[in-house]
Amino acid sequence: MARPTLDLAQRPRAIAVHDRLCAEYGCPIPYFHSLDPLSELVSSLLSHRTKNRDSGRAFKQLVAQFPTWEAVRDAPTAAVERAIAPCTWPEQKAPRIQQVLRLVGEKTGGDWSLDFLQELPVPEARAWLEALPGVGPKTSAAVLCFSHLRGRALPVDSHHHRVAQRLGLIAPTTAVGPAHALLEALLPEDWTAQQVYDHHEVMMLHGQRCCFYKKPACDRCAVLHLCPYGQGPDGQG
Ligand code: SF4
Repeated sequence: MARPTLDLAQRPRAIAVHDRLCAEYGCPIPYFHSLDPLSELVSSLLSHRTKNRDSGRAFKQLVAQFPTWEAVRDAPTAAVERAIAPCTWPEQKAPRIQQVLRLVGEKTGGDWSLDFLQELPVPEARAWLEALPGVGPKTSAAVLCFSHLRGRALPVDSHHHRVAQRLGLIAPTTAVGPAHALLEALLPEDWTAQQVYDHHEVMMLHGQRCCFYKKPACDRCAVLHLCPYGQGPDGQG
């Protein structure tokens, strides 16, 4: 299969979409929390294919029951599984989290801080994270972007991905993994971390509130004039 390629001709449209959606949803958007990067990593692993409310409960229960990450690592896996029961697939996520914590403990010499990632260029920090089992581009971007590191990395969730495909910023066949690098490369290099975060947030909000998976509300969409899908036979524009 051909590798998805970057189409820089889409950059002006990506910026126009960003500006319009920022006006719609109100940028800058406040960061929704400020966890340290290791907590953000665990939180992100818990959130895979899980509603935010449920993964949030699982994370709270985990940190309430175990005083340190070392304690989570060394606990019986069944106890970790019980603590994270509100999320999907706790039986898979518990051993995975313990495996990740074993590696992080080794790599950080028992220091347990991932703050050093802030000193690395973002691609290197992402590569460090993605060398851990179960960590892909969405999780590495989430750790850098959402944690107190406030890194300049673009997470792409399923809403963001769908909206970007319909707007023609990426091809309809581009999977969510490769979409990360392509969509991030469309953003101007001089954008701040806050602007990159805002971009993710407004694309996600637009997917949640207007560009629904089934029956997108093209007739009231703020970016209909920029959207080939909404103006085509599939849309309602
Ligand atoms: S015009 Fe329709 S398909 Fe395009 S972004 Fe808006 S809601 Fe989504």
